[in-house]
Amino acid sequence: MVFVEFEDVSLAYEEGGDLAIKDISLSVKQNEFIAVVGPSGCGKSTLMKLVSGLTEPTSGYVYIDGRQIGGPQKCIGMAFQASNLLPWRTTLENVMLPLEIVQPYRSQLRRKRQEFEAMAMALLERVGLKGWEHKYPWELSGGMQQRASICRALIHKPQLLMLDEPFGALDAFTREELWCMLQELWQEQPFTVILVTHDLREAVFLADTVYVMSKSPGQILVKRDIDIERP
Ligand code: ADP
Ligand code: ADP
Repeated sequence: MVFVEFEDVSLAYEEGGDLAIKDISLSVKQNEFIAVVGPSGCGKSTLMKLVSGLTEPTSGYVYIDGRQIGGPQKCIGMAFQASNLLPWRTTLENVMLPLEIVQPYRSQLRRKRQEFEAMAMALLERVGLKGWEHKYPWELSGGMQQRASICRALIHKPQLLMLDEPFGALDAFTREELWCMLQELWQEQPFTVILVTHDLREAVFLADTVYVMSKSPGQILVKRDIDIERP
């Protein structure tokens, strides 16, 4: 079953201006893990904004779960290069954040706070952050912050996880640790993933399908099926 579909999507940020992305068609199956690789400026962030409903195509269509999207999507979890953890909240409070915002969790929070906290604790434990739940972001290393931000992206059980260079700021060793962590989470309970990265090794390690975006000529999207054995 197709979960995310782009049909000949182009986008110009200014009317009549240059196209940031051009004629992109792509389909992502439910629970598929895809990666989009390409140089800076090729349109990766634009693609993410289109999926999340933060911007609309100039031409073409974007469908999520069979519906043409209009406005921000709630079924999505996101994590970025900077962890964007709120500095005045502890790790646990940061991970709980989507449950305070997204329904049906929001209206159940008062009754089920303990149950939700246990969910967050279980996820934190899964990523190796047990014992760090009451620490503040500045007390955590960069790798720990990214672990926490991935927990926050997954706590409300989104159907789609969008990752924009989530490991870009980490050292090579920590990055590979986090690849394994993400792979384990995804294998345990699959969800659809769109990963944007300029690290081809990362894309190949994690994704079922890798799409390569190029700056020239005209931002064409090339699908590369991977035949490299995963480590
Ligand atoms: P990335 O780290 O994904 O390569 P960039 O550094 O290219 O992202 O862009 C960071 C942000 O700046 C993005 O949200 C993008 O939309 C915005 N941006 C990039 N280029 C322009 C531009 N020419 N005019 C206005 N905003 C831009
Ligand atoms: P990437 O994430 O791959 O670096 P982007 O999607 O940020 O690429 O950018 C694709 C193209 O669109 C670039 O030429 C960039 O300068 C332009 N762009 C991105 N965001 C904006 C914006 N908000 N306004 C105008 N141009 C933008």
